Amino acid sequence: MVLSSVLGFPRIGANREIKKAVEAYWAGKLTQEELTKAAADVKKTSWTSIQQRGVDLIPSGEFSLYDHVLDHSAAFNVIPKRYVGLGLSPIDVYFAMGRGRQADGVDVPACEMKKWFDSNYHFVVPEVSEETEFKLNFNKALEEYQEAKAAGVTTRPVILGPVSFLVLSKAAKGASAGFQPISVLSKLLPVYETLLTDLKAAGVESVQIDEPILVLDTAAALEKQYVSVYETLAPIAPKIVLTTYFSRLDSNVSFIAKLPIAGLHIDLDRAPGQLEEVIAAVKPTSIVLSLGVVSGRNIWKTDFAAAIKTGQTAIDALGADRVIIATSSSLLHTPVTLASEKKLTAEQKDWFSFALEKASEVSVIASALSGSQDAAVTGALEANKVSIAKRREFESTSDDTVRKRVASITPEMLERKSPFAVRKEVQAKHLNLPKFPTTTIGSFPQTKEIRQARAKLGKGEITVEEYDEFIKKEIETVVRFQERIGLDLLVHGEPERNDMVQYFGEQLSGFVFTQNAWVQSYGSRYVRPPIIVSDVSRPGPMTVRWSSYAQSITKKPMKGMLTGPVTILNWSFPRADVSRELQSKQLALALRDEVVDLEKAGINAIQVDEPAIREGLPLRRSDWDAYLKWAVDSFKLSTAGVTDQLQTHSHFCYSDFDDIFPSIQRLDADVISIEASKSDMKLLNTFKQYGYSNQIGPGVYDIHSPRVPGDQEIKDRLKSMLDILPDSLLFVNPDCGLKTRGWKETEASLVNLVAGATWARQNY
Ligand code: GLN
Ligand code: ZN
Repeated sequence: MVLSSVLGFPRIGANREIKKAVEAYWAGKLTQEELTKAAADVKKTSWTSIQQRGVDLIPSGEFSLYDHVLDHSAAFNVIPKRYVGLGLSPIDVYFAMGRGRQADGVDVPACEMKKWFDSNYHFVVPEVSEETEFKLNFNKALEEYQEAKAAGVTTRPVILGPVSFLVLSKAAKGASAGFQPISVLSKLLPVYETLLTDLKAAGVESVQIDEPILVLDTAAALEKQYVSVYETLAPIAPKIVLTTYFSRLDSNVSFIAKLPIAGLHIDLDRAPGQLEEVIAAVKPTSIVLSLGVVSGRNIWKTDFAAAIKTGQTAIDALGADRVIIATSSSLLHTPVTLASEKKLTAEQKDWFSFALEKASEVSVIASALSGSQDAAVTGALEANKVSIAKRREFESTSDDTVRKRVASITPEMLERKSPFAVRKEVQAKHLNLPKFPTTTIGSFPQTKEIRQARAKLGKGEITVEEYDEFIKKEIETVVRFQERIGLDLLVHGEPERNDMVQYFGEQLSGFVFTQNAWVQSYGSRYVRPPIIVSDVSRPGPMTVRWSSYAQSITKKPMKGMLTGPVTILNWSFPRADVSRELQSKQLALALRDEVVDLEKAGINAIQVDEPAIREGLPLRRSDWDAYLKWAVDSFKLSTAGVTDQLQTHSHFCYSDFDDIFPSIQRLDADVISIEASKSDMKLLNTFKQYGYSNQIGPGVYDIHSPRVPGDQEIKDRLKSMLDILPDSLLFVNPDCGLKTRGWKETEASLVNLVAGATWARQNY
C-alpha cells in the first residue's frame, strides 16, 4: 500500500494565534503557562485536522514558538555564553537568542539570522566552538510525540539531522581561527543517540530526519560524516526516513543510497528531473522512496493525474510498499487554509491549495495509487480533473500584447545610451550634486498615524480624497525635513506604501491578493505574499503622481522609488505554468514604462530596489549563470529606457557580493547602496579589487537598531571608506530604508550623517 505523508505544518495557527500569544507573552500580558496552552491548542488542531484528511504519516516536533533551528540549539545546549547567567528562565533565554533582550538591566543583542536556503524564512544561526558542551536539555521530539498521542494521533517525529545542523552553524566567538563547526560532529552525535534511543523506547516507529544540505554542492565532501553518523544512529533509532528538499541530490545520491536508512525523501516539485536517477540508485536496496509531489513552496492545486503518473513510475520500479506520496518540503512556507479566504472569487479559489488542502491532496493521491475505489477518492479525482482543466484553460488565455513585447526584447533595450563614464559627466551637470552627495534609501518612519489613515481608508471611514490629502501632507513633512537638515538627493518617504511588493502588485494586472494567507518570515513576523496568476502588465502609472508632487514642492532633485522585477517576483507566489524568467521580464517591462514616465514627469534620479536578487540564487551552482542572466537582464530592462541624464540607483539589503560580483557590475546602475556591516571594508576591497567602476553608497550606519551613530563615528567610517574608494564614486547614505525607525533617532542620525559628508568635503 502507498502511504501518504506531510513533512511539516505551518505553526502560526489558522488565525495567527501563535503570533498573538507570543507577542502577548513578550509584552508581559500572558504567562508561560498560558503561552504553552495556546501552543498546545494549535498543535492539537493541526495534528487532528491532518489526521482527518486521511494522512498516514503526520509530523510532530517541528512546531516552534520562534524557529525550529533555535529549538534544536536550545535542546542541544548550544547556547552562547552571553545568554547564560543573566537570571533568565529557559524560555526567556530562548527568546533572547531569537530577538535580543533589553529590559531590567539585561541588554543582549539577538543571534544572527539567515535565510533558510532559498526561501524567505529566516533561521537563527547556531554558534558552536570547541568548547560547546552538547547535552540534551530536553527531548522536544519525544514530548510532542507523546502530546499528540494523548490527543489520539500517532505521529512521525521530525528532527533536523546532525550534519545539516552543524553545516548551518557558525563558529562561536572565541573559537580558534579557522574552526569549522562540522569538526565537532563526534561530540554532538551522542546527543542524537540519546534522543533517538528515547524515541524508540517510547514506541516511535519511524522518524523523519531532515538533511536539507544534501541538495547542496558542498555536501559531496561530507560523505564520510554521513556514513559515520547514520551507521551509528540506525541500529538504535526508530526507522529513519532521511529527508531532502528544495533542490536535487545529483551525484550525492550514490552515497546516500548506501546509508543504512529505511526511507529517502526527494523534492519532485523543485527537481522533478531527478526521479529516474534516484529510483535507479535505491532500487537494489530496501529503501522506501518518499516522493515530494505536492509543493511545499507554492499554493497551486496539484495536478492529480500528473502526480499519479509519477507515483506509478516509482511503483513499477520499486513496488507499492516502497513508495510514499508526500509534500515536497515542510508546509511551513504555505498559508494554513483556503477556508479563511472569503474574498477570492469561486474561480480563483478553485486554483489554489493551502496547507490543509495539501494534506488532503497527498492522501487522495496515495489512495488512488493504492487502487482505492472509495467514492470520496474517485470523487476527489474527478473534481481535481475539472479544476485543473479550468485552470489550464485560463492559463491559455494569455495577454498577447505582453507576450509579444517580451518576445521582441532586443539586446539594445538592455543598455543605456552611453557608458557610465559619459553618463556620470552628464548627470553631474544636470543634477548638480555636491561631492559626496547625501541621500536616503527611500522610506521614512511609517508612523502610527500613517498606519491608522490607511486602516481608516480600508474601512471606508475616510474618503480617498481625504487620504490623498493626508499622504501629501506626509510627503511635504518629509521633504521639508530633508531640506532643513541639508540632504542633497531627496526622497518622498513612501508614506503611501503598505509594503514594497504589495503596493506594486495591487496596481499591476495579473496579481491576486489574499485576506489571511500569512506565512512565517521570522519569529513573529509573517508576510502575506501576493499571487501572480496571469500575464503582468501596467494599466497606468503607479508612482508618478506622488514623485512628481514631491518634486513640485522643492528645488532639490527628487529620487523616484520603485521595487525591482526580481524582488517583486521572489516575494510573491509565482505562477507554476510559465517560467520565472518570463514573469520577471513581464514585470520588468511594466517597470520600464514607469521609469520612462517618471523621467517624462521631471524626475531626474530613480532607484529600483533589488534586495531579493541574491536570495533567488539557485541552490546548485551549475544553475547560477542561467538565473543571473535573466535576473540582471530584467533589472537592466526596467532601467535602461531613459536618457543619459537620468541617474539610476539600486539598493541591496546584503553585502555578500563576493561570488556574484560580475553580475552586480553588469547591472550598470549609476549608483548602488548597500548594507553596512562589520565586514564592509573587506567588501569595499572586493569592489576595488574587481575594479568596480560605478558610484556606490555603503551604508554609513545601521538602521536596524534605534541606536544613533555619533558624528565622529560617521567620520571615521567615511575615512576608512575613502582609504579604499575613489572620492568621485562615494555617496553618503544609511544602509536601508527608515520605515521601521522612529522620527527621533532618524533625525539625530541623519543630522550626523550630513555633518559627516560636510566634513569629508572639507578634508578630501
Ligand atoms: N526603498 C525601500 C525602503 O526604503 C527599500 C527597502 C528594502 O531594501 N528592503 O523602504
Ligand atoms: Zn535594504
